[in-house]
Order: sequence, then structure tokens, then C-alpha cells
Amino acid sequence: MNFDLTEEQEMIRQTVQEFAQKELIPIADEAEEKGEFPREVIKKAADLGFLGATIPPEYGGSGVDSISAAILIEELSRAWTSIGTIIHVHNSVCCWPMNHFGTEEQKKRYLPKLARGEIIGAFTLTEPEAGSDASNVKTTAVLDGDEWVINGSKQWITNGLVAGVFLVFAVTDGATSDPKKKPISVLIVDRNTPGLKIGKPERKMGIHCSETAKSLTFEDCRIPKENVLGKVGEGYKVGMITLDQARIGIAAQGVGVAQAAFDEALKYSQQRVQFGQPIARFQAIQWMLAEMATEIEAARLLTYKAAYLKDKGERISMEAAMAKLAGGEIAMKAANMALQIHGGYGYIKDYPIERIFRDAKIVGIYEGTNEIQKLRIAGELLKGK
Ligand SMILES: Cc1cc2nc3c(=O)[nH]c(=O)nc-3n(C[C@H](O)[C@H](O)[C@H](O)COP(=O)(O)OP(=O)(O)OC[C@H]3O[C@@H](n4cnc5c(N)ncnc54)[C@H](O)[C@@H]3O)c2cc1C
Repeated sequence: MNFDLTEEQEMIRQTVQEFAQKELIPIADEAEEKGEFPREVIKKAADLGFLGATIPPEYGGSGVDSISAAILIEELSRAWTSIGTIIHVHNSVCCWPMNHFGTEEQKKRYLPKLARGEIIGAFTLTEPEAGSDASNVKTTAVLDGDEWVINGSKQWITNGLVAGVFLVFAVTDGATSDPKKKPISVLIVDRNTPGLKIGKPERKMGIHCSETAKSLTFEDCRIPKENVLGKVGEGYKVGMITLDQARIGIAAQGVGVAQAAFDEALKYSQQRVQFGQPIARFQAIQWMLAEMATEIEAARLLTYKAAYLKDKGERISMEAAMAKLAGGEIAMKAANMALQIHGGYGYIKDYPIERIFRDAKIVGIYEGTNEIQKLRIAGELLKGK
């Protein structure tokens, strides 16, 4: 077993850290107060190739390995969680499935633009009655001649307000390989398609600069028949395979957010003096630091292991769910402990930990809650038993 990162992986970490020091950390707090989509930052990230990380070179991307792709999201999220979210969604749940399941024509049409950041991607699964129960989508798409006609509504779509292309899950007529499941298909919908109405940005606890569209409404929205990603009726499978591998990215985000919380706690505990000594001398504080450091490293190793197995072509449902669960839990735990270490100063906005704490909560919710990860893990453990 070899725990060393490759030269390329180390280089990516260094490049992202330099980008974070120069372009993210100095403006993150103020930008989050305003809560606007950070166009300039995303453009600079695109210039560095970050938006093409999961796209192969023949379509204009850098096609890095999965550990590098995870390190990218880890380090971006460590500096500014919103940026990690925007780029993760673009890379892992739009570009990746487009490359994995797309036809040659679809790849040529979308991937180069996505890699250059000319368009941003979005993944459109959740509906009012389909959250954890993702198969319960009600949006429909009916074939009319050479077009699909989409009707229904979606909610909470990351990048929804800025995306140029949406992957939309809808119930379609026709066959599916699992008769117990609805025949869902994934449809590629361009932003300016008539009949697609994009709602307002949702007001959120954290990740303010990662805009979340409150709703996406489809009213007789017509798209060409060939805009199906993967096979007609096999969209649920496309969604589950996509989410399985994407969980590595959210796991990495959790590691990055937890690391940021730890970094702040370590610094503050050495500066703050009470009872005549830095609070880092108190064993209660040391235990929190030790616990955080240990669990962050454990979550990081689970994340990189899932990424490593993904590149070996192995099935990673359990490993990716374990990584996401660990990432979601340590993000919140470390943010909570780090805020506690800051005492009252942690609760006011003068220190970054206040923002990190608010951002940390989302990691254990989106792309499958912590509870859903446990179901996924248990399902794998009990398979065939
Ligand atoms: C900021 C943000 C961004 C998002 N971005 C996107 C996006 O880009 N695209 C997209 O499609 N969706 C997106 N989502 C939706 C997100 O993926 C869902 O919120 C998430 O999957 C949980 O669904 P839900 O909120 O409906 O919770 P529910 O499914 O209603 O769950 C409520 C509670 O019940 C628990 N629960 C549910 N079922 C079970 C069960 N069987 N066993 C045990 N416990 C259970 C859950 O764990 C949770 O604690 C986003 C959400 C947010 C908040």
C-alpha cells in the first residue's frame, strides 16, 4: 500500500492553495455577506482548468485522476465553501455524467464549452416530493414527434440561476430494465429553452455565493428527441451512478471545511490567553484539537481511497457513501468544536469560524443526507444476506 500522492496530485494541491491565498481567502467573508454569484472568481478558476477537471483532453478538459479532482474540491472548500460547491456540481454531477453517458455528438456540443467555463452545468433531480426518495419524481416528458415536452417543477438547484445547461430527471414513457421503478430519463435542457422558468435564489444559512434556484418550472418545454443522456428509461440508474461517484467530491468538501475549522482553532488557541496562559495549554482544548485532527485524517483517507477505487474501475457505492458520511460528520463536528474554542468570538462575525460553522451543515445534507449514506452502506453490507 502506498500513501504517497503523485507529483501531479501534489501539484494540484499547491496550485489550488496558491489560487485560494490570492483569489479566495481575501474576499470570501465580504462576498458571502453580499451573497452574489462570484463570476470573476469562477472565470479565473476556469482559466486555471478547474472547470474541466473531469473532462478528458480531447474535449478541452484536463481529465485529472479522481484523487486530484477530490483535492481540488477539498482545497477550494477549505478556503471558501461556496466555490467548492459551484465547481463540484459543475464537475461531478454535470460534466462527469455528460462525458460518461453522453453520445459523441452531445460531448462535442457541450464539453468544450463546459471545460472553458463558457457555460456552467447544473443537476436537476430534487422536487417538492422527491428529496431523499429521489425516484419519486413527478416531472414528466412526453414524446411529441421529434421532441420531448417537459412539464413539472424542480427545487433547490445549485448553479440554477447561472447554468447554461441542466440535466433534468423526468418520467418518460417507455421501457426500463427495472419494472418496479418508474421509467425515468435524464434530459439535457439548454438555459434559453422556451417553457423553462427559473425561480429566485433561495435564502440560506450558509454558502451564500453558491446560488440555489428556489425552483425550476417546465411548462410545455420542448427539447429535441436526441437530448436524452444515456438510454431512455434508464435515468434513475444514470442518476445513482453519477451520485455514487460524486459523493467523493462532497466528502472532499467536508474534509476541506473541517480542515479550515481546525486551522482556525489551532491558531486561535495559541493566541488567546486566559488564566495566564494560551488556552491551547488546557487539556480540554488539546483533546478537541486531537479529536478533530484524527477524524479529519480518517475522513481524508476514506475519500482518497474511494477516489482510488473509482479510477481502478471498481464499484464504489459503499466506499463513497462511507467517505461522504465521514466528511459530513467531521465538517459539522470540527466546525462546532472550533467555534467552541473561539468562545464568544466564535459567535460574532469577526472571525472566519462563524462562516465556516454555517457552511459546514450543508455537507451532511445535499447529495444524500447522512442518514441516506448509512442506508446505502447498510444496504451493501447486507447484500445477499
Ligand atoms: C443548498 C442546497 C443545494 C442543493 N442542490 C441541489 C441540486 O443542485 N440538485 C438537486 O437535485 N438537489 C439539490 N438539493 C437537494 C438535496 O439533495 C436534498 O435536500 C437532499 O437530498 C435531502 O432531501 P430533502 O431535503 O427533501 O430531505 P427529506 O428527504 O425530506 O429528509 C428529511 C429527513 O428525513 C431523513 N430521511 C428521509 N428518508 C429517510 C429514510 N428512508 N431513512 C432514514 N431517514 C430518512 C433525512 O435524512 C432527513 O434527515 C440541494 C439542497 C440544498 C439545501
